[in-house]
Amino acid sequence: SPIIHLKKLNNWVHPIIFCKSIRPYYPFDKIEMSVLFGTTWQATMLTLHCGQIKSVLIQLYARPGDCVLDLACGKGGDLIKWDKAKVGYYVGVDIAEGSIKDCMTRYNGDTDQQRRKKFGFPARLICADCYEARLDEHLCEDAPFDICSCQFALHYSWSTEARARQALANVSALLRPGGIFIGTMPDANVIIKRLRETDGMEFGNSVYLINFGEEYAEKKFPASRPFGIKYKFHLEDAVDCPEWVVPFHLFKLLAEEYDLELVLMKNFHEFVHEYLQKPEFAELMRRLGALGDGRQDQSTLSQDEWEVAYLYLAFVLRKRGQPPSQ
Ligand code: SAM
Repeated sequence: SPIIHLKKLNNWVHPIIFCKSIRPYYPFDKIEMSVLFGTTWQATMLTLHCGQIKSVLIQLYARPGDCVLDLACGKGGDLIKWDKAKVGYYVGVDIAEGSIKDCMTRYNGDTDQQRRKKFGFPARLICADCYEARLDEHLCEDAPFDICSCQFALHYSWSTEARARQALANVSALLRPGGIFIGTMPDANVIIKRLRETDGMEFGNSVYLINFGEEYAEKKFPASRPFGIKYKFHLEDAVDCPEWVVPFHLFKLLAEEYDLELVLMKNFHEFVHEYLQKPEFAELMRRLGALGDGRQDQSTLSQDEWEVAYLYLAFVLRKRGQPPSQ
C-alpha cells in the first residue's frame, strides 16, 4: 500500500496533504507527499524549448537504475525524461505546493489512458524550501542519490549567502561520492554584459525583459558582495518574478567548499553547437532551430527566443570521492 507521510521541517508543519497513490498494484509503489513548508510562491516553467537541453543533460549523465533527486522539480516536466533514462527511483522537491500537486497528477496520470502508462520508477514528492531546509535530515532513508538535478532554479538560492550555502550543502550531503549534479541557470556573464551595453537599466526583446533597479545604476558588482543582486525577469506568457545573479566563478568556488567539482559549464548556445555534432542529438537540436539549414517547423525557435537561450547556461558538478564498488 502507498506510504502516506507528513514530515516535519524546521519545526513548521503545514496541515496539508498527502495523496493516495492511485497505482496500488505497482510492486514497489512508494509515493509519498510531505508538505513541509507552505507558500503561495509559484513560478511558471519556461515555455521555451530549453527542455531539450535538459533532455541531453539527462541522457548524458543519468544511468539506468539511478536514484534521482530533482530539486525544484516544478510540475514534474522532467518525469518523462527520467523515465527514458530508465532511472530506478525519483524524489522531487519543490517549494510550490500547487506544482507538487501537479507533479503528483502527472506521475499518477489523470486519465485512464495515462494511468495505464506508468512510469517505470517509484517516486516520492516533497514540498519544501530546498534552500532553507536541511534536506539530508528528511531524506536519509532515500540517500545517497546517484544524480541530483536542479533545472532553472538554483539562482533562486543566491538571494543570500546562507541560502546559497544550504542549497550546495543539501546537494553535497545527499549525493554519493562520485555522484553527479546537473543543472541549468541564468548566465550572469551574459546578463551583466547586456546590462553594460544598454543605456538604461533594462534590456530585452519581444520575448523577455530584464530590469535592474536603480541601486545598480553604476553597473558595478563588487566581488565582495556577490549575493542578493536582484533583477526582475519577465518572459512572455511564462515568468514574471525576481531572480538573482549567480557569478559563475564564485559559484564554482563555493561548490568546491562542499566537495562538488566542476565538470562542465556551457552557455546554451555553446551547448547546442557542441551537441549538434553528435548524430544522436541532431533531431533535438534541429528543433532548437540551431542547424541553420533553412528547415523550419512550428517547434523551431524564433530569433528572439534564440536570444533568450543565450541567457542560460548548463553545468555539471561531481561530488568528490570514489564511487562505491558495484
Ligand atoms: N525544474 C523545473 C523545470 O525545469 O521544469 C521547474 C523550473 S521553474 C522555472 C522554477 C521552480 O523552482 C519552480 O517550480 C519553483 O517553485 C521552484 N523553486 C523556487 N524556489 C525554490 C525553493 N526555495 N525551494 C524549492 N523550489 C523552489
